[in-house]
Amino acid sequence: MVRRVFKALVAVLLVAAAVVLAQAWEGLGRRASGERRARMESSPQWKNGGFTNPEEIVNDWGAMVEGLTHVSDDVSPSSPVDVVKPDPAELQRAPDSGLRITWFGHSSTLIELDGKRILTDPMWSERAGPLTWVGPQRYFPVLIPLDQLGRVDAVVISHDHYDHLDHRTIKAMAGWKDTLFFVPLGVGAHLEYWGVPLAQIREVDWWDETKLGDVTIASTPVRHASGRGVLDRDSTLWSGWALVGPKHRVFFSGDTGLFTALETIADTYGPFDVTMFEVGQYHRAWPDWHLGPEQAVLAHTKLKGRVFFPIHWSLLSLAYHSWTEPLERALAESKRLEVSIVTPRPGQSVEPEVSTQFAKWWPDVKFQPVDEHRISSSNVNFRVAQP
Ligand SMILES: [Zn+2]
Ligand SMILES: [Zn+2]
Repeated sequence: MVRRVFKALVAVLLVAAAVVLAQAWEGLGRRASGERRARMESSPQWKNGGFTNPEEIVNDWGAMVEGLTHVSDDVSPSSPVDVVKPDPAELQRAPDSGLRITWFGHSSTLIELDGKRILTDPMWSERAGPLTWVGPQRYFPVLIPLDQLGRVDAVVISHDHYDHLDHRTIKAMAGWKDTLFFVPLGVGAHLEYWGVPLAQIREVDWWDETKLGDVTIASTPVRHASGRGVLDRDSTLWSGWALVGPKHRVFFSGDTGLFTALETIADTYGPFDVTMFEVGQYHRAWPDWHLGPEQAVLAHTKLKGRVFFPIHWSLLSLAYHSWTEPLERALAESKRLEVSIVTPRPGQSVEPEVSTQFAKWWPDVKFQPVDEHRISSSNVNFRVAQP
């Protein structure tokens, strides 16, 4: 009797696992093969079966587990976030200054730069992950339907983590005939699998430059990782992007820890009108995966940026800190280093050359200041100067 019950239980669990795997299958993406794989293996970044960082990534597994017992009470907003819905008609009107950035939360932005319209890491799904019913959930509904964004010349993807490469969003854009998709090596296999024609994919290695009209789109090193499942860790590349137009220059970090090549990026493509560095989802257990607010401001100064635009916060909770902590600390550090920072609401457009007052739109919630939880990436030769 016990054996029969046990067998039935195993069968039910196997069927449930099969159902979940079937639901997740499409979102897991597709592994690169053939010519694409050969090109990846010939990259200087490819070693021992996967992509690597010049400065290796160090994790503190003990601190990661310990952190679980210290999750902030305010890791997600407890009341509706004060967002604005972008007006599609306003978005159609070209920015007078030639540079305008609209933030949709996390790392999803529309960068209008010298006449080109570039969408970064678009995450339009309810949840980040392969399944619709489990995984980190958005703080607020989609701010503008994809088809109301107007013309999109390019979609730029930093890496294949779910909060940056959302398969449902990509599938919704797969029929966009006039849009090019710029991705790091290997990520093109996912896009093709989800229906983007190969001819519209620009799949590149670090330091490769591609043209979008008279705007140069250059892939740069960042310090991170990739993978959508348990078996594909670092099997595709991660990248930052320098967007260099005839009049304006923007840097988009994707996800990164602190890394030495920032100085070369500054020399090659700087100075930047705007740098968009990730400020959230950090912890001292994974100091090489994410910058944290103070190192993000440092990275901005390393790139000789004029205006600092913090991203990778205020949509999804992927770490233990309070949801506003990244911005509170980025603001404090920007003040200390006299960095010009913009703090738009999700949905708000920023025209950096037009003076704009940014009202405080986020609530006061408890957060850990830097001296209680400092993020210091390993193996880099520059550090945040202490006050
Ligand atoms: Zn990531
Ligand atoms: Zn991320």
